[in-house]
Amino acid sequence: MKIHGLQKMTLLDYPGHVACTVFLGGCDLRCPFCHNFELIDGTAEPIMDDQELLDFLKKRQGLLDGVAITGGEPCLRPDLIDLIKDIRALGYPVKLDTNGLHPDVLRTLVEERLVDYVAMDVKNAPEHYATTSGVETIDLDKIRESISILMEGPVDYEFRTTVIDQLHTAQDMEGIGALIRGAKRFFLQAFTDRDSVPFSGFSAPSAEKMRLYADIVGKYVQETTIRGVDL
Ligand code: SF4
Repeated sequence: MKIHGLQKMTLLDYPGHVACTVFLGGCDLRCPFCHNFELIDGTAEPIMDDQELLDFLKKRQGLLDGVAITGGEPCLRPDLIDLIKDIRALGYPVKLDTNGLHPDVLRTLVEERLVDYVAMDVKNAPEHYATTSGVETIDLDKIRESISILMEGPVDYEFRTTVIDQLHTAQDMEGIGALIRGAKRFFLQAFTDRDSVPFSGFSAPSAEKMRLYADIVGKYVQETTIRGVDL
């Protein structure tokens, strides 16, 4: 399998773990605020293959205690499950980031406990989901199915929304809350700009708005946490 990026150590991507982050290129969304936009159309040059990744992980046994797999959208890769099995065979717990559009893959990973933690994006309220994801239409049934798989499954998870002042409103937070009603854990992440973000002009909401939004979604979920803002 082609690997498009490797951060050799992170304390942020897999909470509670000293992990590395593996980037798999290709995505079926085109979020205008994407931090990894150069990876999403599948044209980025790979930096290694899966065997080289496994060799790296063998050398880091005892130094790292987790592997975060992100994208792009990892669930687009037909050999994702095999890669995860190989990583687990080396003793590493695996965290997966997903956009939620591939419930069939997610179901296998969760029901067979091949992942230890899943972070799923919830881009926006249903009526603004496609626009926020940079596509004309989106199959919200798949998003809802992935949410159910995580909420009903045996694997620890979080839902998360990257909040952008120009794309999200208080009313949207009600819609997001309704989508994930009853969920265990939700993170509101304030947008941070980078050179790799394809559209300029986005900004993070104020701390006051983020607190308001957290209060709104907090009516629907068990635990809401704000990331990326000095409160
Ligand atoms: S789903 Fe993730 S990787 Fe894909 S375009 Fe959106 S932010 Fe980027």
